This record gives sequence, structure tokens and C-alpha cells, in this order.
Amino acid sequence: MKTTETIDIRFPKTLAEAVRLQASEKTRGKLLAGGTDLMVQWASGVPLPARATSVWDLPELCAIEVFPDRIEIGAGVTHAFLCDAVQIHRHVPALIAAAATVGAKQIQARGTLGGNAANASPAGDTAPALLVTGGSVLLASLAGAREVPLAGFWTGYRQIAARPDEIILAFRLPKKGKAKERFRKIGTRRAQAISKVMAASRILVEKGTIRAAAIALGSVAPTPVRLAEVEAFLVGNKLSPQLIDEAEKLAQATVKPIADIRSTAEYRRWASGRLVRDALENL
Ligand SMILES: Cc1cc2nc3c(=O)[nH]c(=O)nc-3n(C[C@H](O)[C@H](O)[C@H](O)COP(=O)(O)OP(=O)(O)OC[C@H]3O[C@@H](n4cnc5c(N)ncnc54)[C@H](O)[C@@H]3O)c2cc1C
Repeated sequence: MKTTETIDIRFPKTLAEAVRLQASEKTRGKLLAGGTDLMVQWASGVPLPARATSVWDLPELCAIEVFPDRIEIGAGVTHAFLCDAVQIHRHVPALIAAAATVGAKQIQARGTLGGNAANASPAGDTAPALLVTGGSVLLASLAGAREVPLAGFWTGYRQIAARPDEIILAFRLPKKGKAKERFRKIGTRRAQAISKVMAASRILVEKGTIRAAAIALGSVAPTPVRLAEVEAFLVGNKLSPQLIDEAEKLAQATVKPIADIRSTAEYRRWASGRLVRDALENL
């Protein structure tokens, strides 16, 4: 076990102080929120940084704001806080369901939404649920705030579209309105499991016809992915058993997962189709 005592950790009290520290290479530190990813990585051999900048409990990152068309969730909001924030559950239910599956209660109490997104693991549970909202990420730096669509936020395996001097401030998420959302995670166990595959969806059906569809999967590619082909196939069609059969097959043909210690590629491909079926049958 490595010790973190050699890391010079700064504890800014405000976002302004934090972005000032991050602006210069001389003072910039590895951003540290709940530490539930970083502490594990450091203990398992990832080199310790010389400096870290704590964003834990920064007031500007801990707010949840509700607007008529959207909600904004601070990057420092924990999974536990999200699960308790019942006033937003009806607007982003898939995200709440995803947060509720992260680790166990102890991890949910410490792990943050921003940390989950920035860690950019393909198995990060909240990413597909964020993606299907069609929302964006707000990034803060000394130069001001910048908005990046979630669709372009995860740029590669464990890579995000944030500069080293930027801090994730919040997630700006359109409310689901009359659409239905679903989140399902397949792991080896019911709790404390890293996903083999997980899916989130936001689908609007009016008078039996699918009017809008957003479906995203995790753990099937280097980044979380939207199933654009399946979405395009569904929109404008009547929801029927035959449509569901075809969508399941299309999803299985579209995804190109890899095999690793958690699953074979074949299982992931099969399960991807089953999760699309589940989302549609849930409508
Ligand atoms: C036992 C255990 C079980 C777990 N189970 C799950 C699970 O089921 N599903 C799952 O998805 N994850 C799981 N995790 C991983 C982890 O708990 C989550 O990813 C958590 O949300 C990370 O948040 P954090 O605040 O602890 O991030 P940290 O560890 O503090 O940081 C993670 C990364 O995000 C960056 N970062 C943090 N905040 C910001 C910010 N505001 N702006 C920019 N970058 C930032 C950090 O620099 C770092 O690169 C588990 C971890 C453990 C130890």
C-alpha cells in the first residue's frame, strides 16, 4: 500500500481559489473529489502526483438547481445526495437509478458525479444516463465557463474534453418531460459489481408511435456510446413486438465490445440487445 502523505494537497475554499490554483502549471494539482477512484488507483501503483487540489465540498460544485426546462447538478454532488434529492427524481430517473447502483452506501456517500464522469471509465455507471439526456457539461477555468455537449465529452479510453486547467462545475440536463427513462446494469452480483454492460434510455411515445429515442450503453466500447442507428430505426415507428425484435437484433449487430476479465465479447453483444429490448418493453 502506498502512502499519500507525500502529496501536497491543497484545500481551496471557493471555486475562484481552485481555478486560480489550476491555471498555472506551477501550482496545478490532480483534482481530488471523493477520492474513491483516485485512492484505489494510487494504492494499486499509479504514480502519486506531487500535488493535488481538493474540490471536495466546494460550495459552487455542490448545488442542484431546477429550471423550467432543465436541471443543473453540481459536479461535487455525491451519489448518495442524488439518491436523496427526491425533487429531481422525476426529471432524470435513469441517472438516479444509476447513482443508486454505484458501489455500496459507503462509496455513494463519498463518490461524486463529477468524479465518475471525469474518471471516464467505460464502466462508469452514470455516463449512459447522462448521455441520454442530451445535456452538457459546464467547465470552469480562469478564462471563464465553457459548455461542452455530453455527446462529445468522452473522447477516448479514460479521456475527456476538459483542459488540464479546467474543473467540471456542473451537468446541465434537459428534463425528460413526457418521455420514459430506464436504467439497467448487468454485473456479476446485485451490489458492488462493476458492470459487464449497462444501458440507459429516454424514449418518448405518443399514441403508440415512438417520437424520440435516446439509448446509451456502457462497457461495450472505450467510451459510453449512444446507439444512433437503433435510435434512428425506432423514431417514427409504431411500438410493436416486431419492432422490438428488430431493434434488439440491430443493437446486437451495431455494438463492437471487447472481451475482458468481466465478460466475453459475445455475452456483451447479446446482453446489449436484451437491454434494448428491456427498455422498449418497459414502455
Ligand atoms: C469499492 C468501490 C466500488 C465502486 N463501484 C462503482 C460502481 O459500481 N460503479 C461506478 O461507476 N463506479 C464505481 N466505483 C468508482 C467510484 O466510486 C466512482 O467513479 C465515483 O463516482 C468517483 O467519484 P470521486 O468523487 O470519488 O472521484 P475521485 O476519485 O476524487 O476522482 C476521480 C477522477 O475524477 C477527477 N475529478 C474529480 N472531480 C473533478 C471535477 N470536478 N472536475 C474535473 N475532474 C474531476 C479526478 O482528478 C480523477 O481523475 C467504485 C469504487 C470503489 C472503491
